[in-house]
Amino acid sequence: MRVAIQGSHGSFSEAAARRRWPDLEALPCRDVKDVVAAVRDGRADAGCLPIENSLIGSVTTTYDLLHEAFGDGRLHLTHEILHPVHHTIMALPGAPLSGIRRVLSHPVALGQCRIWLADHLPDAELVSAWDTAGSAEIVAQEKDPTWAAIAARPAADAHGLVPLAERIEDDPTNQTRFLTFTRPDAADALRSGSPRYKTSLIVLVDHKPGMLALTLQAFGARGVNLMALQSRPERSAPWTYRFYVDVEGSATDPRVAEALEEIEALAAKLIVLGSYEAWAEGSHLAPPVPPPAHRSAKPAIPLVDRRRNPEGTVVQVRGLEFGGPEPVLIAGPCSVESQEMLMETATAVARSGGDMLRGGAYKPRTSPYDFQGLGVKGLRFLAEAREKTGLPIVTEVLSWEEVPVVAHFADMLQIGARNMQNFSLLRAASRSGKPILLKRGPGSTFEEWLMAAEYVLAEGNPNVVLCERGIRTFERATRHTLDLNAVVLVRERTHLPVIVDPSHAAGIRSLVTPLSLAALAAGACGLIVEVHPDPDKAMSDGAQSLDFEMFAELCGRMGKPERKEAVEKRRKVARR
Ligand code: PEP
Ligand code: MN
Repeated sequence: MRVAIQGSHGSFSEAAARRRWPDLEALPCRDVKDVVAAVRDGRADAGCLPIENSLIGSVTTTYDLLHEAFGDGRLHLTHEILHPVHHTIMALPGAPLSGIRRVLSHPVALGQCRIWLADHLPDAELVSAWDTAGSAEIVAQEKDPTWAAIAARPAADAHGLVPLAERIEDDPTNQTRFLTFTRPDAADALRSGSPRYKTSLIVLVDHKPGMLALTLQAFGARGVNLMALQSRPERSAPWTYRFYVDVEGSATDPRVAEALEEIEALAAKLIVLGSYEAWAEGSHLAPPVPPPAHRSAKPAIPLVDRRRNPEGTVVQVRGLEFGGPEPVLIAGPCSVESQEMLMETATAVARSGGDMLRGGAYKPRTSPYDFQGLGVKGLRFLAEAREKTGLPIVTEVLSWEEVPVVAHFADMLQIGARNMQNFSLLRAASRSGKPILLKRGPGSTFEEWLMAAEYVLAEGNPNVVLCERGIRTFERATRHTLDLNAVVLVRERTHLPVIVDPSHAAGIRSLVTPLSLAALAAGACGLIVEVHPDPDKAMSDGAQSLDFEMFAELCGRMGKPERKEAVEKRRKVARR
């Protein structure tokens, strides 16, 4: 196996390539372009090029070559290699460090040793050479004791030089990422069948708002992890850029393929450089995302079907059990309005016997002119209230883009009634790994509701709690009509736990406690109710919100124990 490398014998490229092919015969090349040419014209079976260093970033000479080398499909990328880079400064035998006036090395290596050089040789002239090992060769040939080279330790022995200092790189974690490649006919034979791939591409986008974001979203929306993004100037058109993108997965993986199709339609140009085996050791690959459900075989029995778990699924949220022996009582304001009102409500909820805190930071409002929630600030207030009271928090997420930030703070993600069939949101919420509270759409059938839950399960998250919150009927006396039939049916047909939201179902606070008790009698394993310190002044849903006294009464009717001094104790539990 002959492998073309940039640099001479003893170079880091050679050492890196040997990690993949220990018995290789190296073909040293002066320039990155020569490495590509050597593989193209058959003088080498494969090539190995440095692409990126963990300290100084991209190896621009390689980046600028990628389009020309790999854009036409005549060469295939095969592997990524991560190689630790430790530098040694070396000189002629007997030459003292204090006498060194000139240091030669590859510019990338000089860049990695800046701190050591400034400390030990502040006056030495730094001279760029074509290669690290090659600079050792020059120092040996010149026989000048005032010259030194920075290279890998073996280069000293190879050229009869002596180390003056070792491990002089600015950071001990220093490593370089290499890519290997070959001709298409040889690519399959070189691959080892690793399940983990990366794909590299170049995207050129028009100067229009959001074009780069759209490209990146094509991956994000599908759960494809972005590993690197670099931009390089587009030489023929000043002040335009080409973006180099690395993602996890192969271009043939359905999620990546879909994203590429979308980017091709949106971007001015898309060049897929290739897919190659990722280096597993020491890299930061996320767990692989399974293919989307519609690309897998349809299960004979739906994932929500009771036959899959006749005992019933128990969903855990920070030690609380939905579907366990005790009903779970979630309470809190419709919207998080301020830090004070949330803290006051959370304390009242915890003291009266509530198990979990609700509160919307992102509010779906019928009118765009109404209060839309405090956003991230609201999420922070919820997390503070959890800290103080020990109550886990559930809050609504409105769009897939906001899933990461909501999931960062919340213990459970609420998918609101209006979003029950927002399938991209369901997928993204599922991938967050957080338990999902899935409200039923006011105009959705029982079957549609279950299929929405199926989306979450099919994306890999088994922790779904259904929530009946009233449906729209011809009846106008109440906001919606609580469908308790559905609660009983959920328990017959699915294994998922179901809770009831009597607040949104009724829209009138006096109905909340009676409907709560009816829901529990029908088999609901919990309730979610709105509570506000001063309901008539609430910024949303005041008419259906309980005040603290009414909430305490509901707790009493449910047999929830008061926990007057329990707030402090629960706080300790939550911290553990
Ligand atoms: C809410 O819980 O405040 C809410 C908006 O609920 P729903 O999605 O059921 O209307
Ligand atoms: Mn509400």
